[in-house]
Amino acid sequence: KSAVHRICSGQVIFDLSSAVKELVENSLDAGATTVEVSLKAYGEEWFKVADNGSGISPSNFQALALKHHTSKISDFSDLNSVATFGFRGEALSSLCALGKLTVETRTKDEPVGTHLEFEHSGVVSSERKIARQVGTTVTIEKLFSTLPVRGKEFSRNIRKEYGKVISLLNAYALIAKGVRLLCTNIVGKNSRMVVVKTQGSSSLKDNIITVFGLNTFKCLEPFNLAVSEDCKVEGFLSKPGPGSGRNSGDRQFFYVNGRPVDMPKVTKLVNELYRSSNSKQYPVAVLNFCIPTTSYDVNVAPDKRKIFFSSEHTILLSLREAIQNLYSPQQC
Ligand code: ADP
Ligand code: MG
Repeated sequence: KSAVHRICSGQVIFDLSSAVKELVENSLDAGATTVEVSLKAYGEEWFKVADNGSGISPSNFQALALKHHTSKISDFSDLNSVATFGFRGEALSSLCALGKLTVETRTKDEPVGTHLEFEHSGVVSSERKIARQVGTTVTIEKLFSTLPVRGKEFSRNIRKEYGKVISLLNAYALIAKGVRLLCTNIVGKNSRMVVVKTQGSSSLKDNIITVFGLNTFKCLEPFNLAVSEDCKVEGFLSKPGPGSGRNSGDRQFFYVNGRPVDMPKVTKLVNELYRSSNSKQYPVAVLNFCIPTTSYDVNVAPDKRKIFFSSEHTILLSLREAIQNLYSPQQC
């Protein structure tokens, strides 16, 4: 049974960035305004996410890392809504099955914090009081150590996995308003590299300047499209023409209602239209799709990064037209 649990967990948490994503989303769900991610040896040794959110109340401790435990789903209709980032109660239980989970937390109602350690099964193995601020710190040591083959692959690909984490955190740094995000990687005994740092600014523009720099921002054009009354696409795209883009598609970020998602079709469309305006580069793109939560489904993929729209065709057509107008206005 526990082997099956480990394997299933490996489908929810399939790499380092999906692990970090779940923890960051939990922090954002908890209303954190500061989220600090630390990695030891690129995340191979351990990684942790510390926040100043609501904290976890003691009544949730025992079930915290058990499968399907969640404090977020109050009503079955919530399944269709992603107003909060997570709702399946599988992240902590999966992480716990794949590595060593430690949680430190305190709510505003508790005078002190609590340090909790868990067995791979999700059962609390130790609990003690500690001094700490309100908020939560979740640490995972030795991710995938319980799946030997995956563990080896993880170590071998650690730099690539780390790169995906940085890209993911940049995705949050761009879109999150009023959240200070910090990521450090501890490599040697005393050397700590700051890899992502934001000020918690309150506009997409300021976030872009923080993450990409002012020079990149100057090459961007605001993009606003109303597909229908309740469906909008907004953000920034590279200005037309060579020189405004990049040699790779490394600065393309897409969101649905502020959640980072993979959008292969949109990515392809944006690249194709930009490159047809006689550029060999790739555009910078930061686009947020604001769509009613009832018109898409995020439950199809465990990592919630793949999204299905009920009106995908209309959205893509409308987007094509708008971007075409930006990049090659002479074509009608
Ligand atoms: P889900 O997010 O789908 O509810 P998780 O396994 O990610 O499930 O988390 C389980 C529960 O643990 C959450 O519902 C929440 O109550 C609590 N939790 C986890 N991380 C945090 C955090 N950083 N701050 C406050 N509560 C948290
Ligand atoms: Mg969660």
